[in-house]
Amino acid sequence: MDAGLISALASKPSARMAVLEVDEAHLPGALRATRADVVILLNLSRDQLDRTSEVRMLAERWRDSLRNTTAHVVANSDDPLVTWAAEVAPDVTWIAAGGNWHEDAYHCPACDARITFAPAPSKEGWSCTCGLRRPAAEFALIEGDLVSDRTGRLPIRLSIPGRFNLANAAMAAIGAEYLGSSIEGALQAMSEVGEIGGRFSAHRINGRAGSLMLAKNPAGWAELIDLVAPGTSPIVIGINSRLADGHDPSWLWDVPFERLSAHLVVATGERRRDLAVRLLHAGVEHLVLDDPLGALATVGSGPIEFIGNYTAFQDARYAIRRGRPVETATLTPTRRRPGADESASAGEKFPSAATRNGARQRHTQSRLRIVVVHPDLLGTYGDGGNGLVLANRARWRGIPVELIFAPSDVPLPRDADIYCLGGGEDGPQVRAAEQLGHGSLADAAGRGATILAVCAGYQILGTTFPGPDGKVTPGLGLLDVSTNRAEPRAVGDVIVRDRLGRVATGFENHAGRTSRGPGVESLGSVMPGIGNGEGTDGARSGRILGTYLHGPVLARNAWLADELLRSVIGSALAPLDDEAEEILARERIAASTSGRVPIGEARRRLLRQGVRAVVSGK
Ligand SMILES: [Zn+2]
Repeated sequence: MDAGLISALASKPSARMAVLEVDEAHLPGALRATRADVVILLNLSRDQLDRTSEVRMLAERWRDSLRNTTAHVVANSDDPLVTWAAEVAPDVTWIAAGGNWHEDAYHCPACDARITFAPAPSKEGWSCTCGLRRPAAEFALIEGDLVSDRTGRLPIRLSIPGRFNLANAAMAAIGAEYLGSSIEGALQAMSEVGEIGGRFSAHRINGRAGSLMLAKNPAGWAELIDLVAPGTSPIVIGINSRLADGHDPSWLWDVPFERLSAHLVVATGERRRDLAVRLLHAGVEHLVLDDPLGALATVGSGPIEFIGNYTAFQDARYAIRRGRPVETATLTPTRRRPGADESASAGEKFPSAATRNGARQRHTQSRLRIVVVHPDLLGTYGDGGNGLVLANRARWRGIPVELIFAPSDVPLPRDADIYCLGGGEDGPQVRAAEQLGHGSLADAAGRGATILAVCAGYQILGTTFPGPDGKVTPGLGLLDVSTNRAEPRAVGDVIVRDRLGRVATGFENHAGRTSRGPGVESLGSVMPGIGNGEGTDGARSGRILGTYLHGPVLARNAWLADELLRSVIGSALAPLDDEAEEILARERIAASTSGRVPIGEARRRLLRQGVRAVVSGK
């Protein structure tokens, strides 16, 4: 990032002014190095968790660096994390610029209590019991106009689509005023912008028109999906996982792809197999193709959009610009499975109280009940997808299911069959442990419920785990394991082989080293990967299973999902067509091993370890 900023600044040393788009993790460094006059803070959400920090840590670093800044700060008062970071700055202009992604700010960055969001279009915004609340804003974005007492109502007319672009333009215009422009003049200039670094640029391939869009994290998708979901035209989605994208695409499970069910989606990019499994579970008709340009030229009819994450977007943009001849894509048959759950889906993680009560009323004892535990606290890494995978794999076999996303402010459902816990940030992890320490999960375990716990959730099930300052924190004691903090952070692809020779793939991102008590079995040995830190990953005891694998682990490893289902149903399960999952497993095994040890040796080792049996899926 620094190199990019330096080369941008060096490209025109005589310029009087520079506007820098700065990665959230590099904001403090860029502020120190440039002594900027104006800082514009749009929003803060999880992104590339493997190489940047969790979002609360970033907010804290922003806050530290803004405390004594001489820059004028323009900040979005509708984003609690931005507000908390910017409220200490000496000179702030607040704008209520909106935003429809709250999943990283369900809990207050100041005190960890649950933040209350007033339903739109209330002017109240959001507030916390500790006193942190949406500040009174000088400007507001209202129905596409920038409104303030000082300027009146200024229309924003942009050539590019989307609510978020209106918000970006409004904030940029307010920032420009501090650099000598008028707000009206800045808005007028922006109305002529037809694309931003290729984003929203029009393309035409073999006579076929469409536009290019970039969405690189769940918050970006939450905005873009509003834009594209209403139509029915095909959409090509490119997903890569290079350094600039983040190596872990588990976040795909936090994107409400269910809302694209009226579209044919083409999965492309290096992680198209991960996307294909996600689309399968979203009930979206889809194809998997290597070549995004071929897809843009040949799939369906009429206009076609391309949406890529960072490098997938750049790849498509440059390929279109080079104008190479496009091969006609060979279409494989599409497949569609029953998708979205009746009571809740991954795209509806926090159903309203009414929906939650409705779901409860529909419950009958004959249904398999699956609970995703506290997704507001333990939902940072896409692990809520494990609940959806279990629900779908049961439903695809004709087993009635109720899937419940149980946030931390309602009592945990007590009579469920399977409970899934996911990864989360340090503060929310402690809060989840406190909340669950009241006995509800222990009661469920005592009744013989099946529990799958991932990463922070896994640590919570143990006897102790490290809190935010490394402080030893009591866990639930449902598994005889304990976790200490250790450096370096374990980040990367993992392959686990269990004692039956079955292989699981996943992605780890944690600073824990977990030791197992006597008699506690691990999930299996790791190669490559860190896992528990002594050559194994995870722990199992009775019907309780803990692991560090994200992915989500059950989406990547169908055999493990079925093992959990069998533990509840107690009988054989009808076979499913798991071709998509098997292709994904093969691809991840090859990719994970090629980076760390010579490919030939890794493959030989994996074959010796029985990988072939898993790859064939039997
Ligand atoms: Zn608070």
